[in-house]
Amino acid sequence: MISIKWEKVVIQIEEQVIKVIQNMRQDSPADKESGGMLIGSVLTDSRDTVLRDYTFPQKEDFQSRYRFIRREDSHNALLQKKWKESNRTVMYLGEWHTHPEMDPHYSQQDHKNWKKLLRESKTFSDYLVFIIGGINIYGVWVGNRENEKIELVFKGAYNK
Ligand SMILES: [Zn+2]
Repeated sequence: MISIKWEKVVIQIEEQVIKVIQNMRQDSPADKESGGMLIGSVLTDSRDTVLRDYTFPQKEDFQSRYRFIRREDSHNALLQKKWKESNRTVMYLGEWHTHPEMDPHYSQQDHKNWKKLLRESKTFSDYLVFIIGGINIYGVWVGNRENEKIELVFKGAYNK
């Protein structure tokens, strides 16, 4: 489990979330970008967050070496299912995707997409988490939904 302090909250990311990103990282030249939703719970009192679930690429998504486009419907259906199965305790908390670079940086397109999600996502959280899985390292960014500021909060190697 990784714990990240951001503003007044603690964001915890469970191992299985990092694991799925690690498994889908683009460590061979033919690998395409993958991605999906980050799903978890916001604790009522502290507003702390636990990321414990995810969606992964669905057949409707677009995947190429340098691009992943997530379609809404299939991922939303999965989210809905997970929400019901968890007795309505989990929700949408952000996005993950992979990059074919050792140490990942967000692209201008990523930044644009993330800002749009901060504005338009219908979720109970005040912030969204964005993970990019590079080949050696993954990065975690947090976006504040109030002012749309996005900052890097963590970079780490897999298996640590
Ligand atoms: Zn990207």
